Amino acid sequence: MTTATLDTTVTTPRTVERVVAGQATSDGAGVKLTRVLTNPLQRRLDPFLMLDAFGTDNPDDYIAGFPSHPHRGFETVTYMIAGRMRHRDSAGNEGLLTNGGVQWMTAGRGVIHSELPEQEEGSMEGFQLWLNLPAKDKMIPAWYRDIPTGDIPEAHVDGVTVRVIAGESHGVRGAVQREATAPLYLDIHLPAGAGFEQTLPEGHNAFVYVYRGGLTIGGTAVPVQRMAILANTPGTDGVVLASGDAPTRALLIAGRPLNEPIAQYGPFVMNTQAELRQAVEDFQNGRLA
Ligand code: MN
Repeated sequence: MTTATLDTTVTTPRTVERVVAGQATSDGAGVKLTRVLTNPLQRRLDPFLMLDAFGTDNPDDYIAGFPSHPHRGFETVTYMIAGRMRHRDSAGNEGLLTNGGVQWMTAGRGVIHSELPEQEEGSMEGFQLWLNLPAKDKMIPAWYRDIPTGDIPEAHVDGVTVRVIAGESHGVRGAVQREATAPLYLDIHLPAGAGFEQTLPEGHNAFVYVYRGGLTIGGTAVPVQRMAILANTPGTDGVVLASGDAPTRALLIAGRPLNEPIAQYGPFVMNTQAELRQAVEDFQNGRLA
């Protein structure tokens, strides 16, 4: 717990370029979810490849989970708000992801894993973010870390609680740091009628996803279950969030773009079609993980 002072004042905040609703879809063995960051936005929001939001009280929408499937070339960051998810992978890792916990998995050259709910009733809510790896790191060994909720650093600024999953906020360093893309991943809890500011490096791509309440950013209303893509206007130094008349929770995610070619085939994200063919061949021949 850190009570920070506002030594990071934003003087020229970013505006909202676009508000996005996302697409209802299903993945895995029929898990219903909203794909907030879809394929057409991968270039605009480089180094982020995908953001899924899942949230339902109906077990039929989640119970089958995500049975055994492969990944290569990027990282998955799963953040559970409610419910329990059991992870097992080909590197021998096993973990139970529970309320407020994060699982950070580097697929690297390859991993085969399952992500299965461990409950038969109640609500399931959370997010999965895909963070790209630079070309030079796409074939590194797989890596995995479970971060229980108590191990996620928090900043407390003027009544606002900031859970710092990655990067740094108001002097609090997050649970994970990445050199190439310098990802910032914050879960920001604002009471009604509050404000919060966060510095952001110029040129980093950034977006905000509201999952409770509602925000105003630079004069633009961002309702619940919407993503605001923040404009990359030269000369800006951060973002200012203002909650409305309801307590509000939002993810603020930002990172340095890789500016490398993106080639995706389902769960494989590489730089070229030849590398994708290799990934499929490796998977089919049992050489992926
Ligand atoms: Mn997966």
